[in-house]
Amino acid sequence: MTFHIITLFPEMFDSYINGSILGRAIEDKKIKVKFYNPRDFTKDRNRRIDRKPYGGGPGMVIEALPTIKAIEKAKGKKKNAKIIFLSPSGTQFDNSYAKKMADKCSDVIIISGRYEGIDARIKKAFKVEDVSIGDYVLTGGELPAMVIIDCVSRQIEGVLGDFNSLEESRVASSEVYTRPEVFEYKKKKYKVPKVLLSGDHKKIEEWKKNHK
Ligand code: SAH
Repeated sequence: MTFHIITLFPEMFDSYINGSILGRAIEDKKIKVKFYNPRDFTKDRNRRIDRKPYGGGPGMVIEALPTIKAIEKAKGKKKNAKIIFLSPSGTQFDNSYAKKMADKCSDVIIISGRYEGIDARIKKAFKVEDVSIGDYVLTGGELPAMVIIDCVSRQIEGVLGDFNSLEESRVASSEVYTRPEVFEYKKKKYKVPKVLLSGDHKKIEEWKKNHK
């Protein structure tokens, strides 16, 4: 699966996507992340792409044409690539959305807004779906894009070391423990629940069901 990210700030992604599980997924060629910066597609001498909104109002708006050219470059020969526009008022992104995307799409173009957003005409030039990662407003679409890359990638077979780690496919508990069995902090002893040390798989599964 290839994620094509349209962003003014590609460097923001570096440490997150190149570390840990996502980093390994990229190394193993399970996923690919490519960047397209609208600034590279403007004729403006100073590479400026933000302008005042028509009709007035606060903030700046990203120009449509450089963004359209960046999207076009990302699309390349993949005419059917899905295009997502990140917006706080879009369809709510969730696990089942991620799963569908992992199953159906091989190329996804994700457009990250900044400032007051992007000139609305990009949505007339392409078929795009507005997607929100939650009911709050962030300063830009870079974090939302990383949330989507992360969540979709873990649905792709081979990305999680053990595919069974997927919460949805096993009895999972949000309450987990590791060594040591007991430790002391401020004179109080903290122990691992006995049942987890019992080796009795039936009992353990039952405990996990009750500790979701
Ligand atoms: N006044 C604008 C605010 C834009 S926030 C508005 O209400 O749309 C700047 C950019 O951050 C947006 O264009 C979008 O790409 C991104 N963004 C902010 N919050 C988001 C969220 N909850 N989900 C997805 N994208 C978000």
